[in-house]
Amino acid sequence: MMKYTATTDENEVLLQKQYMEKAAGYVAALEEEIGHKPLCCVTTFGCQMNARDSEKLSGILKEIGYTLTESEEDADFVIYNTCTVRDNANQRVYGRLGFLNSMKRKKPHLKVALCGCMMQEPSVIEKIRKSYRFVDLIFGTHNIFKFAQLLVTMFENNDMIIDIWQETDQIVEALPVSRKYPYKSGINIMFGCNNFCSYCIVPYVRGRERSRDPKEIIREIEQLTADGVVEIMLLGQNVNSYGKTLDQPITFAQLLQEIEKIEGLKRIRFMTSHPKDLSDELIDVMKHSGKICRHLHLPVQAGSDRILEAMNRRYTKAQYLALVDKIRTAMPDISLTTDLIVGFPGETLEDVEETIDVVKKVQYDNAFTFIYSKRTGTPAAAMENQVPEELVKEGFDKLLKVVQDTAKERAARLKGSVMEALVEEVNEQDKSLMTGRLSNNMLVHFPADPSMIGQLVMVSLDECRGFYYIGHIV
Ligand code: SF4
Repeated sequence: MMKYTATTDENEVLLQKQYMEKAAGYVAALEEEIGHKPLCCVTTFGCQMNARDSEKLSGILKEIGYTLTESEEDADFVIYNTCTVRDNANQRVYGRLGFLNSMKRKKPHLKVALCGCMMQEPSVIEKIRKSYRFVDLIFGTHNIFKFAQLLVTMFENNDMIIDIWQETDQIVEALPVSRKYPYKSGINIMFGCNNFCSYCIVPYVRGRERSRDPKEIIREIEQLTADGVVEIMLLGQNVNSYGKTLDQPITFAQLLQEIEKIEGLKRIRFMTSHPKDLSDELIDVMKHSGKICRHLHLPVQAGSDRILEAMNRRYTKAQYLALVDKIRTAMPDISLTTDLIVGFPGETLEDVEETIDVVKKVQYDNAFTFIYSKRTGTPAAAMENQVPEELVKEGFDKLLKVVQDTAKERAARLKGSVMEALVEEVNEQDKSLMTGRLSNNMLVHFPADPSMIGQLVMVSLDECRGFYYIGHIV
């Protein structure tokens, strides 16, 4: 059994800093050659863990002399941080690679790199090696901290560089990061997943669970709050099993209690929680916390016990509903959201009715509903009785209607109340409005000034617009 280190490998940090200096030399030479400051574009697919990884990629690219751009067209270096949780994520990447190939024909100095979960699939590497030979660099989820070193190798070679690790025992966090938002930040508290839900490819591409040293997490949050961050999102595939690989194991609830003490930090969010590991201790810590937001994302995936067992979720419908009752009793104002899959092999319309029944009983504030996507290498992909598309669609449409009706009802109950919102950004549709996020994760738009971004303000929820509100500051 591999022994996992929980603390950052300082020697590796030093080594990577040396490679950053070397890479900066190549970027400076490129600037000479092309006559302008080289631009880089980091495109992120998938979840918040990928978004956090992309902030690390951006931090290193800026450190070595690139300027970030959102436009792939203008860029001199493009990197896709990929996702593979569903097949359509893979297809999107292949589709966009065609565009990059045409770009590279026009701009031969353009460098193209691919990383993230999709690159952990051997069949994908084979396909890229054969059909997308213009790609310069490919690496995976376990060696993202080697980015500077990989860039140097790329600059010093004309062939495609491929460096995929099956797993790692290293955690290397103290590298440059370029955060998307000045007032909030994601924080990785652990990596990987040991749950092996039968439809899920994550354990095969993100490896075994490894928890970060709590002292390091606390130190990182203290640095962020000193830097103006007021809200953090603790990230892990299953945060509820945090701490199990530590030399001195602590629970996720105990970690939250330590984080709660940090001066200047106003809000704590976390995702994702697996229902089978959500402890009474965690519910109690959330209940008595002044900083943990009143939102819990609790994926149920399905309502039928037969399907839950085939999914290897390790709880029953009754156990899940009992857990929700416990949570609601402790925190009646909590907002609950979930993930739902329709079309898992062997699923019948009666099974979908069980899922609909869970939605009606729990009354979610929102739910992410997905059509089952066959992922090669997962047990479910080898299961017989794959469900015909038209049957899946019928069940999916029925479920989606119930989810949306329930969410609207839930949203409407808050009309006229005054709640605290974190001012996040200028409203995209109406520049006279700012967009804020409530503790329960709902959005509210209200007249305010962009200088208030990052502040917590009290807002009256005047008009419900389905899943969000229009309001005014009080
Ligand atoms: S808990 Fe299950 S669904 Fe979530 S990442 Fe792990 S294996 Fe996948």
